[in-house]
Amino acid sequence: MFIFYNAITGDGCNMKIYKSYKFRMYPNKFQEELINKTIGSCRFIYNHFLDKKVSNAYSGIKLISEFTKEKAFLKEVDSCALRNSIFNLENAYKRYYKNLGGHPKFKIKGINNSYKTNNIKSTYKGKNYNSIKLDLINKIITLPKLKEVSIRGYRNKNKLNGEIKSAVIRKEGSKYYVSVLMEEDIIIKPFTPNTIVGIDLGIKDFLVTSHNEKIKNTIKINQKRLRGLQRGLSRCKLGSKNRYKIKLKIQRLFMKIKNARKFLLHTITNKLIKENDIIAVENLDVESMKQNHYIAKCLTENHISEIIRVLNYKATWNNKKLIQIDRYYPSSQLCNVCNYQNKNVKELSIRTWQCPQCGCTHDRDLNAAINIMCEGLKIYIKTYERELMTP
Ligand SMILES: [Zn+2]
Repeated sequence: MFIFYNAITGDGCNMKIYKSYKFRMYPNKFQEELINKTIGSCRFIYNHFLDKKVSNAYSGIKLISEFTKEKAFLKEVDSCALRNSIFNLENAYKRYYKNLGGHPKFKIKGINNSYKTNNIKSTYKGKNYNSIKLDLINKIITLPKLKEVSIRGYRNKNKLNGEIKSAVIRKEGSKYYVSVLMEEDIIIKPFTPNTIVGIDLGIKDFLVTSHNEKIKNTIKINQKRLRGLQRGLSRCKLGSKNRYKIKLKIQRLFMKIKNARKFLLHTITNKLIKENDIIAVENLDVESMKQNHYIAKCLTENHISEIIRVLNYKATWNNKKLIQIDRYYPSSQLCNVCNYQNKNVKELSIRTWQCPQCGCTHDRDLNAAINIMCEGLKIYIKTYERELMTP
């Protein structure tokens, strides 16, 4: 997706974007209990209406109010969260009917422990009220039913500019988090194409740029520790306290990796977007790559498609251009000096090679990144030719 600005006047334009901010939550005993109850009630509603095959949210919501009269525990929890779980069910059915997903499944306790609530605005005696409020100075979030909960995160900010739309409250292991979705207005700066970079997304390295920057994937699962824990898990009795403890440890290990990866991903993409106006990447055929086992392992560890997704939206926000190159373009086989195509390089194990025509020695990934940059520039000129011609 590209954003076009007014090429004649060079004016920037306004745009609304959605951003989500995640905070660690520190609920007290009462709040913790209520969060768990709400998660449980949402799961209960979802499963109940799935059992009754209610695929329409409107009729589901009508049924809820009657249902609440019977089941007293539903009155205690955030009603907005219950409505959202019906919308979730409707979406799952919609996806199923459109052949985008399987038949909706019953939710199991312990998997995806979360609920969503919306910010409901109201006016009373000329004053505006919001059901969700965020106070970053005192580090407090106000949520329906839970009232004030302490939070931590975003140390360097004391205010977020935007309007709160919704919040997702999530339990991960024994910790609680809240993700706040904000609608923000941003001004998109006029686009000036001065710098370009080509990126070869990684098999061996995390990624290699045409400026010869190699970013290594330093985050690896401590396989030995994981295996040890899994062995411990299989030795424990089902439902025992020890089993639960080990399960938490495994969850924590995965969470740590996930967070570290996220941090790396955002650091790299922020840098790339900040330093370059045009970014060229290969449009990877993820599905066919998964069939190759060697790549599949790296792929799941690297999240290549995740990098492209993040680059894509960050490029839009900052008015930079992300150019995706045809996946069949032989970026690693072409010599970036004389353009000779060396089909022998197909083999992934070849890391460096010498061009038989001009004799240059190439680092596989750097050579590919340079080719991707050149091809990206070609596509850019072709696509924006008319825009470039406008004085
Ligand atoms: Zn050559």
